[in-house]
Amino acid sequence: MLKNLLEDKHCFKLVCGAGNEDVESIRRLVYLYALAGCRFFDLSANEEVVDAALETLHNANIYDAYICVSVGIKSDPHCNKAVINYDKCINCGSCESICPQGAIHYAKVKKSKCIGCGRCWKVCPKMAISYNPEEKKLDEILPQLIKKGIDCIEFHVIGQDENEIFSKWQYINETFDGMLSICISRGKLGDEALIERIQKMIANRTPYSTIIQADGFPMSGGADDYKTTLQAVATAEIVQNANLPVYLMLSGGTNSKTTELAQMCSINYHAVAVGSYARKIIKKYIERQDFWTNQLVIEDALNIIKPLIDSVIL
Ligand code: SF4
Ligand code: SF4
Repeated sequence: MLKNLLEDKHCFKLVCGAGNEDVESIRRLVYLYALAGCRFFDLSANEEVVDAALETLHNANIYDAYICVSVGIKSDPHCNKAVINYDKCINCGSCESICPQGAIHYAKVKKSKCIGCGRCWKVCPKMAISYNPEEKKLDEILPQLIKKGIDCIEFHVIGQDENEIFSKWQYINETFDGMLSICISRGKLGDEALIERIQKMIANRTPYSTIIQADGFPMSGGADDYKTTLQAVATAEIVQNANLPVYLMLSGGTNSKTTELAQMCSINYHAVAVGSYARKIIKKYIERQDFWTNQLVIEDALNIIKPLIDSVIL
């Protein structure tokens, strides 16, 4: 059971990206991380993506893995897609170079790959990039995904619209009786409002049926140092100090230093979710044409992944 994995306190979750709907990259990510020992996969709430992950696990004879799908409110950055204004764009290529997903080619955004990380917006010299929320209708997608046997639904609530948050949360609670995860960041909320929101959201839930994914600095992973992961640990400490009956998961800037820093700060975490950094370290292998035919590609990628996973599960 997913509960047991969390209670062991050594749970590594691979975040494939709430907005990542590039099916072939999902297959490859899931395959490599599953071979390396990951048993919890966070996917876009998309039937094709979930099918691809389930099929990959089945083909690899891995039957003890858990699937989580991510949905969010409109203002959550994880649900955004980059859009380029061609009246302003000068085709400088800066956005293409910085994109961690390889989602931009010749100033065109491939929506299925974009995860809304904001890096392209930051480097654009002409302010030509903006973001469109990619809203999913929960009643259209969740029933089908639940039928497929998903183990967890993650709700991203980085934003201010309380009405949207609580109406969607109510629907999710009424529709799914398994583990729920709340992905939340301090951002503009501040520490007190963060805890108040969580308390309100879990008020009617059974103790320890909810994961709080403390998202330090959403989608900021990239460097493998203490500074990058500092906000993840700091946000987790705020949740821990509230003494709530929840599982605590660190995310948002997580890397191979996260558990070390968390232990130094006496954070009693149950799990670590790694996304940007986990995808970045094997990007060049994922993009190989001979991925499925060259065993050396798989072995080299596994040698890079294993120290990251071991930093959490050992
Ligand atoms: S940099 Fe981030 S937001 Fe921009 S296109 Fe790439 S994934 Fe999307
Ligand atoms: S960084 Fe801005 S100006 Fe340069 S190619 Fe991208 S959208 Fe166009």
